[in-house]
Amino acid sequence: MITGEGRLSANMDSPLVLVHGGAGSVPSDSLPRHRIGCRLAAEAGAAVIGDGAVEAACAAVRIMEDDEVYNAGTGCALNLIGAVSLDAAVMCGATIDAGGVCALGPFKHPVSIAQALLHESPVLIAGAAADDWALAHGFEQVPEDDLITPKSAAAWQRVVKEGGASNWAGGTVGAVARDAQGRLCAATSTGGTIGKLPGRVGDTPLVGAGTYADEVCAISATGEGEAFVLAVFAARLSDAIRAGGEPQEELEKALARIERDFGGLGGAIMLTRDGGPFMAWTTDGMSHAW
Ligand code: ASP
Repeated sequence: MITGEGRLSANMDSPLVLVHGGAGSVPSDSLPRHRIGCRLAAEAGAAVIGDGAVEAACAAVRIMEDDEVYNAGTGCALNLIGAVSLDAAVMCGATIDAGGVCALGPFKHPVSIAQALLHESPVLIAGAAADDWALAHGFEQVPEDDLITPKSAAAWQRVVKEGGASNWAGGTVGAVARDAQGRLCAATSTGGTIGKLPGRVGDTPLVGAGTYADEVCAISATGEGEAFVLAVFAARLSDAIRAGGEPQEELEKALARIERDFGGLGGAIMLTRDGGPFMAWTTDGMSHAW
């Protein structure tokens, strides 16, 4: 288990920011950085929780996008041709608005672009069109090399050039937040899997799969994206809680179902309107903090 050190007070119905730094196996030499990164992200979110759940969740994710230890923004996994291709989404539970980008080019904070899309009519924009939308709305594209680190380049070399076994990068980042009014938000950001087919999109930016929020709960998932997409993971989990299920139990059941019926591993964090933090994983660990 990888546990963040940033555990702040968590009264059942108080404002709360809960983050994850991806499900998977983190090498022991990266564990301290994973823990500290989660803690800093949760604190950054908590610092702006007065501005609302959306601001808090996105602020937390931005911190992790900047931290090269995670697979989002700087240090993200590279696709088959060694290019950056980023997925992110934000969903506001109070308004049932969502914004997402997928197969996005090199931008430092994909979650900020998703946040800007929250109140626009397209829910999800892909590829070159997402780049164009971001540029037209004042976001700055950076040289791809700014986001590629020695670690992400070495991982690409191992998987794509040397046929290494696992293309799972781990390190996807996400946050769920609940503000003083009980409004919920979920935000998730990733570079996806190492050596993925150009244009491949995982669960992260898909509303109801890797990211979801309504008035019942906010969920950010991480793991083998195809399985989470096929299971419509987050939306079904929300429905189960709406129907009266106990949140932690339903979360664990939903992850067990992903493993049993779709052959996928992963984890998720969740807040409900009056409960949490809830978290579970079927991998070796999932770094997190609140
Ligand atoms: N779910 C992400 C994807 O498949 C990867 C991860 O969470 O590690 O793109």
